[in-house]
Amino acid sequence: MPIIWCAVLGLGPMEEPRSLIEWHWEDEFSTAERDKVEDWLNSVTGAVESTLGVYPFTVHFYIHRRKGSSEPVPWASTRRQYVQGVDFHIDPSFSLQAFLDDWTAPHEISHLSIPYLGQEQSWFAEGYASFMQYQVMQKLGICSEQEVGEIYAEKIERVRPYYDRLQCPESLRAGTGTQLCIGEVQATSCRSTSVSRRSMAWSLPTLLQDTSFVVA
Ligand SMILES: [Zn+2]
Repeated sequence: MPIIWCAVLGLGPMEEPRSLIEWHWEDEFSTAERDKVEDWLNSVTGAVESTLGVYPFTVHFYIHRRKGSSEPVPWASTRRQYVQGVDFHIDPSFSLQAFLDDWTAPHEISHLSIPYLGQEQSWFAEGYASFMQYQVMQKLGICSEQEVGEIYAEKIERVRPYYDRLQCPESLRAGTGTQLCIGEVQATSCRSTSVSRRSMAWSLPTLLQDTSFVVA
């Protein structure tokens, strides 16, 4: 299996988000830790807006402390019922750059750009957010366009066995149908050879229809 490496590109000027953000500090954080978290999530939200547009609602961020983790954001989940927001469980001892390199915030904040579709349609929501996270990371300057293309191609290769096992009509195999087939894959970090333990759904025909990537 090919290992994806993204070059260290360095971040461009950080974009200030135009969406209204409401911060909820669920645990004790120092001023320096709050500043770092705000820099991180403001940058990601700005990149999401550049990619998808300004959100027409207040975005709520709930920040929880998680000590001794092996990654900056070991867990996150969205709130879609009474508010539109994300719970981030973070280890603030990681650097701002480590937070910016992490795919979780681009993924979770992208989720908010479409309505909650329900558990049964989570395959689409996850495929969408999993696709969008790399578009946002490219906007952030974490990955180049070529590297994002390589990540998509590698993920398509990884789900191919699942895709082949599914009872997909022939039209879907050609990427021309409207129904979708999914596979479970794991997330790859742009600047890391490690693969996250969290799995997510990928909708292969959607990727084939919406991008120029072709499975040979
Ligand atoms: Zn998700």
